[in-house]
Amino acid sequence: MRRQRKAKIVATLGPASSSKEQIRELFRAGADVFRLNFSHGTHEDHRKRYETIREVEAEVERPIGILADMQGPKLRIGEVEGGEVVLKAGQSFRLDLDETPGNDKRAPLPHPEIFAAISPGTALLIDDGKLQLEVQDCAPDYAETRVVTGGPLRDHKGVNLPGVILPISPITEKDRADLEFALDLGVDWIALSFVQRPEDLTEARRLIGERAAIMTKVEKPAALECLSQLIALSDAIMVARGDLGVEMPPETIPSRQKQIIHACRLSGVPVVVATQMLESMIAAPAPTRAEASDVATAVYDGADAVMLSAESAAGKYPKEAVTFMDRIIASTEADPAYRGLIHAREGDPEATGADAISAAASQVASTLSTAAIVNYTMSGSTALRAARQRPNVPIMVFTNEIRTARRLAVLWGAHCLHTEDVSNTQEMVEKACRLAVREGFADLGDTLVITAGVPFKTPGTTNMLRIARVEQ
Ligand code: PGA
Ligand code: MN
Repeated sequence: MRRQRKAKIVATLGPASSSKEQIRELFRAGADVFRLNFSHGTHEDHRKRYETIREVEAEVERPIGILADMQGPKLRIGEVEGGEVVLKAGQSFRLDLDETPGNDKRAPLPHPEIFAAISPGTALLIDDGKLQLEVQDCAPDYAETRVVTGGPLRDHKGVNLPGVILPISPITEKDRADLEFALDLGVDWIALSFVQRPEDLTEARRLIGERAAIMTKVEKPAALECLSQLIALSDAIMVARGDLGVEMPPETIPSRQKQIIHACRLSGVPVVVATQMLESMIAAPAPTRAEASDVATAVYDGADAVMLSAESAAGKYPKEAVTFMDRIIASTEADPAYRGLIHAREGDPEATGADAISAAASQVASTLSTAAIVNYTMSGSTALRAARQRPNVPIMVFTNEIRTARRLAVLWGAHCLHTEDVSNTQEMVEKACRLAVREGFADLGDTLVITAGVPFKTPGTTNMLRIARVEQ
């Protein structure tokens, strides 16, 4: 079972996508990584989803990545009656610390630090900026506001205060509990929200250790100020356009997106583009032209993955959303101009054996039109360097570490296989050929480029490139 594309799909699970049938269907439609969003749902919900994904993984015999996304110090509205109320422009609306579910006159905002930091005139943006309130009057436990932009206000929607600095830790008490829970489950990735400084990541790494890989969400203006340091400390980056586009003017997001992707590609750190990619598909069975174009832009930029949020978690058409994403990616990658665009802003190989071999493998693959590159790796670090070259052919990643295979589900162009190590060159070639045929990447007579490290079974030794012909 192989995908016919290089860029990957991350699909968020939620009430619309939690049964085994639904998760299997999303995987088959193209989801490579599933995201458990700890901003919503109970630990029990996430445990069930986690276990179901692993059941589907065993059934389809493909490693699946699981990303646990921490809420972080995201400010959210509390509950409202019936889950939704409608606010009209011009009306008054009160926010307070009372936990009683809200209505069209007031709602809980369980964050005393907000009331301490705002003053009359402060703008409060809700639900990715869809609603806007202006503070008229405030006290330590409430704020009277005027609705500037109205619309439906739903439970637990996010609140942003552009320009207001709140003295809050990037890893909240809730995050600590969620983090331990997610790590105990065995998730492959932890996504950290609202990271602002390199110290935030040092702190996270101390808590997480080697138990999971870290994906840093870039969604604060402060994170852009120290982007290169954050990239160096992260295993992957998410361009979290939802909050970024509220914290900063939307017109700055396209160029920021390109800058972040470019910086990640130069470092060989996987990068995911997220939020509102197929937003209208929450309620419609097909995307708008603009949305199709947005997904294509991320693909032309060379992002490792594109992500679905509410489209797959809570929308009416989760399967259709994944299917369209899959089709948009495949169609974009088939554009004759795609290769030129993706290679236009490539970095040079660094002076390491792994980079030299990866660059050579990519070159050989083009020159000989090989069926695939086969990369033997333990930690996955050479697979990252191979993908950094954005070769024209698929990269089959062979690893005896299931954790590596699952983590690299997010990596551009990588088809990972969890398989025993080999102990000599002949075995290495035979295995590559056999599995390339079995997985649908090669036929008899095709050529493969294989990279590995000798002595075998020793990490960090990539030093060999072998060209092999698939026989029998
Ligand atoms: P969220 O993060 O969906 O957890 O808010 C993504 C974003 O802000 O774009
Ligand atoms: Mn966010």
